Amino acid sequence: MSRHKAVLIPGDGIGPEVTRATCQVLEAAEAPIEWVERLAGLAAIEAGGDVLPAETLEDIQRHKLALKGPCTTPIGKGFSSVNVQLRKQLNLYAAVRPVRSLPGVETRFEGVDLIVIRENTEGLYSGVENRLTDDVVMSMKVTTQSACRRIAHWAFRFATQQRRKKITVFHKANIMKVTDGLFINCAREVHSHEYPNIDYDEAIIDAGCMKLVQNPGQFDVLLLENLYGDVVSDLCAGLVGGLGVVPGANFGEQAAVFEAVHGSAPDIAGKGVANPLALLMSAVMMLQHLQDVEQDPRCGRAASRIEQAYRQALGDGERTRDLGGSLDTEQFARAVIDRLP
Ligand code: ATP
Repeated sequence: MSRHKAVLIPGDGIGPEVTRATCQVLEAAEAPIEWVERLAGLAAIEAGGDVLPAETLEDIQRHKLALKGPCTTPIGKGFSSVNVQLRKQLNLYAAVRPVRSLPGVETRFEGVDLIVIRENTEGLYSGVENRLTDDVVMSMKVTTQSACRRIAHWAFRFATQQRRKKITVFHKANIMKVTDGLFINCAREVHSHEYPNIDYDEAIIDAGCMKLVQNPGQFDVLLLENLYGDVVSDLCAGLVGGLGVVPGANFGEQAAVFEAVHGSAPDIAGKGVANPLALLMSAVMMLQHLQDVEQDPRCGRAASRIEQAYRQALGDGERTRDLGGSLDTEQFARAVIDRLP
């Protein structure tokens, strides 16, 4: 039987550890995937290449699909972020992060079920930074009508497909009247012209964050520009157990790249203790995406088997250290494999 080719980028830090564990589970679940392993990030530089080698980019374009481990981005110096480059070069303009409570993972709130949608290509991530004088530096927040409309359309379409009820835009248009003003105006326009059946509201981001940590149940789908989306994704991860349990996907018209919300976690890298669940859940999203676009029921089947197995494992108290358990990365992967239906 044929398999779907997908690029696999192990990444840096805990990346290779969580990637290995994820691939083991996918194989045990008979997911019909053939991995094309490629380098990016520090690993690519250490192998003597660019941070994002042309071969890696071309293969993602060819196969339209990748599962990516976290890649290191040094703070304040060195090469530019491979994550940002990848999103820009492949025009992966929509990032989606489902944030859901999990069985056996105790947190302040029960039944959290949010989807964070982040514009992935512009805003302060445009990288237009200048030194004007010795003591004055500036960063340009680039916001275009086309990108704001594009992400608003994407978000409302996605919310409709997922049968979600409401979209809330977090913004700071009271201060950034022109840039964030454009973002909310585009969202309002797309809502009122094309998706009046979905509820729509807005929150100024500071107040929105306060409301989120007081009562996340009042939100459904959150739509944010790039930097706010980055920050609020981590905040939301904290509502359901942390960065070890929140998956992500980056969608464009030509390709989709699936990756955990977390970074390379240098503090625990190489110890074999990272939680592989966030990347495993991202791989499940990849299988569901394949089911949708390729209509291959084997992908849907593998996705739901893996989801059942990790929920069962967590419910049985099988947890890695970040969740208060004692399992290492391999042991957790084994616990999931043992529970595959
Ligand atoms: P980067 O620069 O690559 O973003 P970082 O350390 O700034 O790395 P994260 O990698 O997201 O940011 O890590 C933040 C914290 O969360 C760290 O303490 C890390 O150990 C923890 N963490 C992140 N991912 C996981 C994981 N999969 N399992 C366990 N702990 C994790």
